[in-house]
Amino acid sequence: MAAPVAVTFLGGLGEIGRNCAVLETAGRRVLLDCGRMFAGDDLPGVDSVLPDFEWLLDSGGVEACVATHAHEDHIGALPHLLEHLSFPVYGSAFTLGLVRHKLSEAGLLDRVELREVRDGDCFRAGPFQCEAMPVTHSVPGGLITAFSTPQGVILHSSDFKLDLTPVDGRRTALSRIGALADDPGVRLLLADSTNADAPGSSRSERDVGEVLHDVIGRQGGRRVIVGAFASHIHRIQQVMDAAVASGRTVATLGLSMQRNVGLARELNLLRVPDRALRDITDLEGLDSGQVLIVCTGSQGEPRAALTQMAEGTSKWVEIGTTDTVIFSSHPIPGNEAAVGAVRNGLARRGAQVLHTGNLDVHTSGHGKQQELKVLHSVASPEWFVPVHGEYAHLVAHAGLARDMGMPDERVVLCSDGDRIELTDDGLRRVGSVGGEHVYVDGTVGDLGSRVLDERRKLGADGFVTVVVCVDLERGVLVSSPQIVSRGWVEQPALVGHEAAVVDAVETEVRRALAGGDRDLGALEDLVMRTARRTSRERTRRRPVIVPVMTEA
Ligand SMILES: [Zn+2]
Ligand SMILES: [Zn+2]
Repeated sequence: MAAPVAVTFLGGLGEIGRNCAVLETAGRRVLLDCGRMFAGDDLPGVDSVLPDFEWLLDSGGVEACVATHAHEDHIGALPHLLEHLSFPVYGSAFTLGLVRHKLSEAGLLDRVELREVRDGDCFRAGPFQCEAMPVTHSVPGGLITAFSTPQGVILHSSDFKLDLTPVDGRRTALSRIGALADDPGVRLLLADSTNADAPGSSRSERDVGEVLHDVIGRQGGRRVIVGAFASHIHRIQQVMDAAVASGRTVATLGLSMQRNVGLARELNLLRVPDRALRDITDLEGLDSGQVLIVCTGSQGEPRAALTQMAEGTSKWVEIGTTDTVIFSSHPIPGNEAAVGAVRNGLARRGAQVLHTGNLDVHTSGHGKQQELKVLHSVASPEWFVPVHGEYAHLVAHAGLARDMGMPDERVVLCSDGDRIELTDDGLRRVGSVGGEHVYVDGTVGDLGSRVLDERRKLGADGFVTVVVCVDLERGVLVSSPQIVSRGWVEQPALVGHEAAVVDAVETEVRRALAGGDRDLGALEDLVMRTARRTSRERTRRRPVIVPVMTEA
């Protein structure tokens, strides 16, 4: 009997973000990605959401991490885990470049050894022999990983699409996957489900390049500003190629854009002639029609370059009627409103705004149904667990695998926290280790659903604090109650409403004290009910009431 192999999913199953799994055999472990998730508007004040590492930390940590590619949902939680542990990270040069920056900012570079992996490399990560294969995605250097385990090959697709004409010519290693499928066979496939409910195939990145070339070429004397993901080096390459072809000088704007462009040029992943690239401070003497700016903010991120242009606060770019702004990305679910606000701001300042709604200036980095089917067909796995997606995506991907002829029982739907075990007898779920969301708001881990509920309520209804000082021995109010409110009612009506609450509270507390009530808790309750009732009657609003009782 070969030793069992367990996979524990710490995130990414049932949500887009914080991808993280642990592969384990005989008590030895390797981490597969370590991502974070961006917090939506439903999580007020939360910066990001991490995988729950408690089980991992309590049970001995990991020996290594394989980072499949440079997106935040795959590497963004590394600084948080490396605060507690120390282990080597394997990844491509570009991935490690971004990891290095992240860890150096966090002062954690000394806790990690970054081990570069090239396409086709075999390497040992913890207990497993691994093979790294190229994969096409919306960031350079993405890797499919085949883990050789005592239970056969576990193949992880990483985030992938099947782009047959990728900008860098680096195609997904389908033939190598096919060879593995023949010998020794793929025991378990873990594959990206992000676009599992989208029919057809994603367009090649190169098609977007043609659209960009065309539209930028037609802008005549206008300045062109392109917003794109800072890690999407191939998109940036195509934007820069189009700029150069139409005789424009390129400047980059936004910290991450400038950093990533620098890194990609260093690694020879981005090729642009020195003379075509200038600093944003150095565009003087050039006409609008000779300039193109590639910048951050296409997701409507606060303080990003495009956002500042839309708000009129950009130090470098004042938007006007001779500007064409291209959003070369699609809003990530949850960002639509923010993106809409930026587009409107730009349009209001006179810019012509182009985006995926009116021009094909973007393509997804995640394969759609036809591409997923090709992967399933080539890998022909014995077992399959859909990963990376909201729950509906996982279900769609499971259905697709069944449509491809996989028996029902060989397709296992898992959620965050689930632990599965591969043995000689097959694959089964063996329990759950939690998989809670861990929120980051300044510090990590002390923010729970109670505080978030309170924040939502405060945000929606405001609060009213009533301070009441009583002398319980004598059974009297020491002074009139004090009131402080925020986010409840506008001036000048506020004064009257506050006075009414104070009056009502004073009357009720006096009556209770006169009636012999001496219990501070009961009095607090009375203050709460009275203030709430008064607010409801006068304003039809339900602010959070915070009674503060003090004793003289
Ligand atoms: Zn991802
Ligand atoms: Zn990705």
